[in-house]
Amino acid sequence: MGSRQVSTSWQGKNVTVAGLGVSGIPAARVLAGLGARVTVVNDGDDERSRTQAAQLEAEGITVRLGDGDTLPEGTELVVTTPGWQPGKPLFAAAAEAGVEVWGDVELAWRLRGPDAAPWLAVTGTNGKTTTVRMLAAILEAAGLRTAAVGNIGVSLLDAVLGEEEYDVLAVELSSYQLHWAPSLRAHSAAVLNLAPDHLDWHGSMQAYAADKGRIYEGNQVACVYNAADKATEDLVREADVEEGCRAIGFTLGTPGPSQVGVVDDLLVDRAFVENRQKQAQELAQVSDIDPPAPHNIANALAAAALARAFGVPATAVRDGLRAFRPDPHRIEFVEEIAGVRYVDDSKATNTHAAEASLAAYEPIVWIAGGLAKGATFDELVTTAAKRLRGVVLMGADRALIREALARHAPEVPVVDLDRTDTGAMSAAVGEAAALARPGDTVLLAPACASMDMFVNYNKRGEAFADAVRALAAERA
Ligand code: ADP
Repeated sequence: MGSRQVSTSWQGKNVTVAGLGVSGIPAARVLAGLGARVTVVNDGDDERSRTQAAQLEAEGITVRLGDGDTLPEGTELVVTTPGWQPGKPLFAAAAEAGVEVWGDVELAWRLRGPDAAPWLAVTGTNGKTTTVRMLAAILEAAGLRTAAVGNIGVSLLDAVLGEEEYDVLAVELSSYQLHWAPSLRAHSAAVLNLAPDHLDWHGSMQAYAADKGRIYEGNQVACVYNAADKATEDLVREADVEEGCRAIGFTLGTPGPSQVGVVDDLLVDRAFVENRQKQAQELAQVSDIDPPAPHNIANALAAAALARAFGVPATAVRDGLRAFRPDPHRIEFVEEIAGVRYVDDSKATNTHAAEASLAAYEPIVWIAGGLAKGATFDELVTTAAKRLRGVVLMGADRALIREALARHAPEVPVVDLDRTDTGAMSAAVGEAAALARPGDTVLLAPACASMDMFVNYNKRGEAFADAVRALAAERA
């Protein structure tokens, strides 16, 4: 809360900001505003970066385009765009010079005033955005001044330095951001799940897990882990936390002491009750969650655990979950046509996410394919095989999925569209409709990134929804 508290030690400090872009530009402006001498370095030297550079130069910020590898002379601190890989020569140069490197999260954390709102932090391979937005909805329902912060809604710097005052922040953190945030200390934090992703950036699964695990460092009240994902519990065990901080598990089964979980059709708390050996507190009904797919119930439980760690009453958990609506393209129901439901999970851009949405329906006509980013599909296909009515494939790496299907689900009919043009989506919907029977779900859960065919996953989801609506109109 309040930028006025920031110390004067920034005056004249030589700060290098690594990377123009969504986090670099605001960071450079904030630092310059605090009196630092800011130099932005950037790999690219294209038209767009030149326009951005000209604007920053006009504000007294130095910009060096076309060389993001050399550390400017006299640098006392580097503030990096989280996406820059740790192996970049700039960071080796900083280490050699004894210069600290902060990411955007570290910068926001350090710039908080002394009475700043505590952070409830969420990371994981999948489900971050959903969980953080559920958490914010619950905190709001409890009458707290809060915001969902991170890749969504308000930016971290704005949340920390803006005029708006908060009681608590619901913060989404990526593994990249955590890598560059050594001094972050959350009130409580959750790691939702841990599956291989972004390994090219981190170098190994171990390094990826270690960066995610940083979210628990110094937690004050609760480290929330996924009881079904042992790797998340291991991270809690390895973390150095404040005295009295508790490990709280979430489970889709009946919760043990110090867990939140599900009993019949209720979400229940056996962690933040007076006598957790004997007592449980009802939080909400499963049907309060939209959509009540298993992975989404897990997200709701994680959000509830963090909110309860902050002292929120059970009724606020229920009211918040009822008020929550999912973001577009995340298991979004589009239409029902001839007894077949069409669902858009374009945001399932990796196999772990697709596995979650494939587990939520049966039987399924699955539309998949795109850019695989080095993934393999054997496990996904094996798990999903018995639910599949049929599969429609498109996109650059569709052969990888086709081969996995041939190995593990040879009886499932597959239509390979052999296309990577944008128009392929409407053909895919047509083929899926032909395979589906009443009661089935046609599910777009590509398990791949979209950029081979679409600008992003939003556009891919819109193309799917448009094609479904066109089919509905045709059949009407
Ligand atoms: P993130 O912010 O981590 O990318 P989102 O909440 O945007 O996560 O969800 C991304 C996709 O991941 C969803 O479309 C869904 O397919 C899948 N997903 C959401 N929550 C989970 C979960 N807890 N476990 C596995 N997959 C999930």
